[in-house]
Amino acid sequence: MDTLSLWINGKHVESLGSRTLDVHNPATGKVMRHVPLATMEDVNVAIEAAKAAFPGWRDTTPLRRSRILNKFRDLLETHRAELARLASEEHGKTLEDATGSVQRGIEVVEFAVGAPHLLKGEHAENVGRGVDCHSMLQPVGVCAGITPFNFPAMVPMWMFPIAIACGNTFVLKPSEKVPSCSLRMAELLKDAGLPDGVFNVVPGDKEAVDALLIHPDVRAISFVGSTPVAKYIYETAANHGKRVQALGGAKNHAVVMPDASLDFTADAIMGAAYGSAGERCMAISTVVAVGDIADSLVAKLKEKADKLVVGSGDQKGVDMGPVISSQHRDKIVGYIDSGVAQGAKLVKDGRGIVVAGFENGYFVGPTLFDHVSTEMTIYREEIFGPVLIVLRAASLSDAINLINSNPYANGTAIFTSSGAAARRFQNEIEVGMVGINVPIPVPMAFFSFGGWKASLFGDLHMHGMEGVYFYTRTKAVTTRWPEQSDRKTSTLVMPTLG
Ligand code: NAD
Repeated sequence: MDTLSLWINGKHVESLGSRTLDVHNPATGKVMRHVPLATMEDVNVAIEAAKAAFPGWRDTTPLRRSRILNKFRDLLETHRAELARLASEEHGKTLEDATGSVQRGIEVVEFAVGAPHLLKGEHAENVGRGVDCHSMLQPVGVCAGITPFNFPAMVPMWMFPIAIACGNTFVLKPSEKVPSCSLRMAELLKDAGLPDGVFNVVPGDKEAVDALLIHPDVRAISFVGSTPVAKYIYETAANHGKRVQALGGAKNHAVVMPDASLDFTADAIMGAAYGSAGERCMAISTVVAVGDIADSLVAKLKEKADKLVVGSGDQKGVDMGPVISSQHRDKIVGYIDSGVAQGAKLVKDGRGIVVAGFENGYFVGPTLFDHVSTEMTIYREEIFGPVLIVLRAASLSDAINLINSNPYANGTAIFTSSGAAARRFQNEIEVGMVGINVPIPVPMAFFSFGGWKASLFGDLHMHGMEGVYFYTRTKAVTTRWPEQSDRKTSTLVMPTLG
């Protein structure tokens, strides 16, 4: 059985340590390969390579960087099915879903290819008499990315294409549960002509992460994962003088107004709640039914959930694959038990599901709870599985208050045919990404992705212009070319240019 390697300085290298982890296929429960867990020394070697590559890459023109990324984009297209297969095999999501997520990653590369335009600063003539001012966006140096298991290709691509386009070098620490896509993308970047050392991959766990967080030569940390780890990453990296964007967990609510189209809304919620077995940070896990729509909505949700086909992600006709691990399956089942014990109404029970031919897979069936209240554990905690809960609210005001009281604030949606309700919702809701009759409002690559409150620690979101600003430092240059006759003796008064 294969043991994967690290990718440092343009080639596969073995870890200096000996710790490895099994990588499972969650549909079969079988070990597919082993992944090395990078040691602190491994990470230091990767950072050294990235540091050595930085001056040459920084001085490579944005147009040349962009051409390499454009070639990489072409290679991603060519190898899209292969990357989707790796993502599906290690994560469990369906091939079609995995293909879509690779496509969303490719779109970030397409945005990054615009680097020559994106990196143009501002210029103003005559900010004072005979004085001009311009700003420059310069790379920050060695950047690092730490990514979660649920999007093996897309989430790394939220980060490194923009960092590299901006002239930085990069060390990626992918999730140890799904390392293969990142390593394959490293090979494709090399094939595209990326100089050695600009992109490095160090699969690993906390030891590798901590090595990145404390190393003085790492200037910026991008993180996506759960909230407790995001907070730890933010605090530790900031304490070590780095800029940080740390995206955390979520509890995304969909408000369903009494005037919503029932079939359309229920279909949208099916995909958003159960797609990727609920293991999406933008999954809708909570429905807030407003007014008298609740009973008919719950009935419709159950009717549609009953038709979902659960199975191995590589099989035709399957809607929903397994969850990532047996431990995670057991944790989700524990949440369902707690919902029952705390008095929620279990409308559809996904516990104990067995998929023929995949008896050792980590499956949980679609689960639906009604009459959930805000004190229940299934409301308070992120389940990250195919469990949809329904709460009831008397009015839009109550629904908005409920959502704004939740500590998470990644995404939310409203289903309504009222422009006034939608407008009020988008204005008053304290959440980073909002959908209006759009269940999973993941912004396109040329907008920025990020939540608020406990869903994001840091100031800048990922990709879009916020990504460009995260991976650059702004320098403002004020210029005067005085004629001999303009030269005056110095003054100790604060200069005012106007
Ligand atoms: P996780 O927080 O367990 O792991 C994320 C990364 O951090 C991995 O690379 C892991 O190796 C590392 N890590 C884990 N524990 C660590 C520790 N104690 N110290 C240092 N590093 C550590 O998250 P996960 O289980 O891989 O992913 C699921 C979570 O990610 C969910 O909470 C989900 O909501 C969140 N997520 C958020 C977004 C977003 O955009 N906000 C996107 C995808 C996933």
